[in-house]
Amino acid sequence: MPALILDGKALSTQTEVQLKTRVDRLRESTGKAPILATILVGDDSSSKTYVEMKGNACSRVGMESIRVFLDQNINTEELLNKIHELNENENVHGILLQHPVPPHIDERKAFEAINIRKDVDGVTCLGFGRIAMGEAAYGSATPAGIMTLLRHYEIPLSGKHAVVVGRSAILGKPMAMMLLAANCTVTICHSKTTNLPELIKQADILVGAVGRPEFIKTAWIKKNAVVVDAGYHPGGIGDIEKNGLNEVASAYTPVPGGVGPMTINTLIRQTVESGEAFLQQI
Ligand code: NAP
Repeated sequence: MPALILDGKALSTQTEVQLKTRVDRLRESTGKAPILATILVGDDSSSKTYVEMKGNACSRVGMESIRVFLDQNINTEELLNKIHELNENENVHGILLQHPVPPHIDERKAFEAINIRKDVDGVTCLGFGRIAMGEAAYGSATPAGIMTLLRHYEIPLSGKHAVVVGRSAILGKPMAMMLLAANCTVTICHSKTTNLPELIKQADILVGAVGRPEFIKTAWIKKNAVVVDAGYHPGGIGDIEKNGLNEVASAYTPVPGGVGPMTINTLIRQTVESGEAFLQQI
């Protein structure tokens, strides 16, 4: 039987319709719509494309976005000042700092400067901690989008062995916490893991978040595993080998059209939630 395709593109298109209705309602009742501020430091072309895609998604649901472009050479202090300004701006309901920032900037410090109520991309330590403790917070956009996708397709999670390859602050670590909260037994792998293929072979749910094109081989994957590829590289290549995936997996996310659209969708949904909370003074 061919594998089920976990179609993030279709799900995000479908949920945008509902998000647009919520934005329209908010505008009718308060005269205002949620506004997302995106900050891009430098002129990395992929980052520019991502910021543009996020702005376009805002427009599709009837929201505005403010795009802040900062010079490659600004220092951490100048970036913090801009974030503080956006925190104070009552017309801004969500702040996204596009990752990565140039290496001379303290990215963690910049993320931490974002007001928790406006942290719609789920990048602060406080947001991470709250999610890890099962408290309310905006989730890190990519793993939260993956959870939405798995739940939409009713993928059984409780008691399953999930293997997450990658432990970055915005992806691997929060992914592991969210799968744990869904009662998976979670293994986290990273660059110092010595027996990666054997660990991957045990995964009922596999999440690839390595940042290396087709690094995870189909031969390592257990028959009927659910495979989530968070990676994205030029030419529509993920972190997991495509060849043979349809035969081995019971379900998988395509690249492109799987995790990427769900990341943007989560950011937009969380901005709508934040807009509702601010504008309706919840
Ligand atoms: P990252 O910060 O570079 O982290 C990569 C992780 O992979 C690290 O934890 C690293 O381990 C681990 N790793 C590297 N080499 C490894 C190896 N040989 N064996 C096992 N683990 C290894 O990347 P990221 O930001 O998490 O992104 C991961 C991927 O997701 C990238 O392809 C990125 O493009 C993609 N991504 C997609 C979206 C989306 O919306 N679709 C969003 C964000 C990221 P150490 O910690 O030991 O170094």
